[in-house]
Amino acid sequence: MDRQQEFVLRTIEERDVRFVRLWFTDVVGSLKSVALAPAEVEGAFEEGLGFDGSSIEGLSRIYESDMLAQPDPSTFQILPWRGETEPTSRMFCDILTPDGAPSAADPRNVLKRQLAAAADMGFTCYTHPEIEFYLLKSPDIGPDGAPVPVDYGGYFDHVTGGVGQDFRRRAVTMLEAVGISVEFSHHENGPGQNEIDLRYADALQTADNVMTFRTVIKEVALQQGIYATFMPKPFSDNPGSGMHTHFSLFEGDTNAFFEAGQEYQLSTTARQFIAGLLRHAPEFTAVTNQFVNSYKRLWGGGEAPSHLSWGHNNRSALVRVPLYKPNKGQSARVEYRGIDSAANPYLAYAVLLGAGLKGIQEGYELPAGAEDDVWSLSSAERRAMGHDPLPGSLHDAIRSMEDSELVADILGEQVFESFLRNKQDEWNAYRQNVSPFEINRYLGIL
Ligand code: GLU
Ligand code: MG
Ligand code: MG
Repeated sequence: MDRQQEFVLRTIEERDVRFVRLWFTDVVGSLKSVALAPAEVEGAFEEGLGFDGSSIEGLSRIYESDMLAQPDPSTFQILPWRGETEPTSRMFCDILTPDGAPSAADPRNVLKRQLAAAADMGFTCYTHPEIEFYLLKSPDIGPDGAPVPVDYGGYFDHVTGGVGQDFRRRAVTMLEAVGISVEFSHHENGPGQNEIDLRYADALQTADNVMTFRTVIKEVALQQGIYATFMPKPFSDNPGSGMHTHFSLFEGDTNAFFEAGQEYQLSTTARQFIAGLLRHAPEFTAVTNQFVNSYKRLWGGGEAPSHLSWGHNNRSALVRVPLYKPNKGQSARVEYRGIDSAANPYLAYAVLLGAGLKGIQEGYELPAGAEDDVWSLSSAERRAMGHDPLPGSLHDAIRSMEDSELVADILGEQVFESFLRNKQDEWNAYRQNVSPFEINRYLGIL
């Protein structure tokens, strides 16, 4: 029993905790939870808790279904929305095989492996996500076939008497109560659309925080009688919900992305990292944008990127280098704008980091930045400037991922295969569905 484990057991005792939930994530990023009686926690620390892995998407095959969930004591938190007396707590788990080895199929382990690869190169990876989502009156669609937002505000709007303000206030308070620091929160462009930006943390902690964030947001919405969705593009005519993520690599206390006097104060390491993201984006987009609906966001305007480009102060770019603040050298960072709010954060951060590290290892050359609004160029102009398109659909994204040695390497064979299988099934289901769009457009005239 180590000190962190002892601390958890003592807290459970002192706070009179009634349930301890063990959390982990399947291959598409759905949160899984099992509630333990406090007396079972010590055993779970020592040996893990046994469960049927074959019932969890992507975790194990039916003939080797026994798996173990071992709680990570550093993630222990009381869940404030379950009440103060006899509270409920949670810990994230690592998934182990029956012989006690880390499971290659566990998304959290995929990210840990990638962070270890970064550490071998001398880097610690920090991330800062900007998470967008919609607040709706309910999960049901309205009479016009679209969801019904809670308000009609826009970017940074202060909606007088709006539920959004009250919602953000409660959500931020709840997030801080589970140890997640929030930097900004505001109304976004779409009706009922909100954004909350988390303070940067190491990439594993950020991925855990994103999972907790989604649960907290959904719980707070339910308490207020509304509904929150992280669906990438719930409205045809309003912007989608992105999860832009800022990356920085530190060597000890030094930001390896910063170099005074260089263009945008970007070091060679940062330029190579961006080059890695751009070169491999088509291969990993199935992971950062994993649903049929994700491609409606990427190709539906609303400030979502659709082409391979990077820029400084340019919101059409896939990779953006935020404005440099002279008194904040350590804040040099790179924002990846492609990823959406429904990605599995463990797998998505693993492929983004892995692609950036590949750029550093191979010394990739960074192409010229895009000064222009990439959306307003003609396709010939874009081609001439090397701004190739991102995959146009989940189908295209699957095809590019299938051929990617890099993504296979980062995810490991088992996750690579189960992810592709899951996504191919989704595409097949979509492909054979006749949508209201087609009925409306064709039935009356053909
Ligand atoms: N909602 C936009 C997207 O889908 C981003 C808007 C912004 O720049 O924050 O990426
Ligand atoms: Mg935003
Ligand atoms: Mg942003």
